[in-house]
Amino acid sequence: MTAIISEETKMRDDIARVGKSIFDRMLTFGSTGNISARLSNGDLLMTPTNASLGNLDPARLSRFSAEGVHVDGDKPTKEAFLHQCMYCQQKLSGAVVHLHSTHAVAVSLLEDIDPEDVLPPLTAYYVMRVGKLPLVPYYPPGDKALAEAVAERAKTSHAVLLANHGPVVAGKTLLDAQYATEELEETAKLHLLLQSHRIRPLTPDQRQALLEKK
Ligand SMILES: [Zn+2]
Repeated sequence: MTAIISEETKMRDDIARVGKSIFDRMLTFGSTGNISARLSNGDLLMTPTNASLGNLDPARLSRFSAEGVHVDGDKPTKEAFLHQCMYCQQKLSGAVVHLHSTHAVAVSLLEDIDPEDVLPPLTAYYVMRVGKLPLVPYYPPGDKALAEAVAERAKTSHAVLLANHGPVVAGKTLLDAQYATEELEETAKLHLLLQSHRIRPLTPDQRQALLEKK
């Protein structure tokens, strides 16, 4: 029991620390964005509704049982289902980060993106941390069809981009999910910077070699 408590206390502190870091660097804003992490007993800790990631109280995070029932803490975010869809499909995930980060949202609005894989393989770190980024079509907030669409896309990728909304990224650890989300946002920024330029992304062979090394 002591081990579980200390693991939970550390995870609560880690979520608050990562949230503040993300907020302070303006990777999300207001009360947007949410973070969750899975404990070894299967319980899920998640940032609550209307909470700013910049000012999280570790003691007030929402806690779900392994069965997905809200058991204590503040009222969970209305976007809890986005996280649950990712854990359901990506069984090895230990954490999920969802942001309304500006450049990723901007890329989701471009007319000519490939919905199967939104961003080109611009850098090795993008390929290693994100790999493939399918687009989830737009649905109004709270629409049940959004959960189904996320679950469908999450079958083949641990990172998805919600059209006109933002990325949802799962990782083995909280740091993995954080770093992959940040890599995604920076690559979206690069992609926008390069819009009017001819570019040389990694070749299919270079990309494949990195994916095989993962
Ligand atoms: Zn959102």
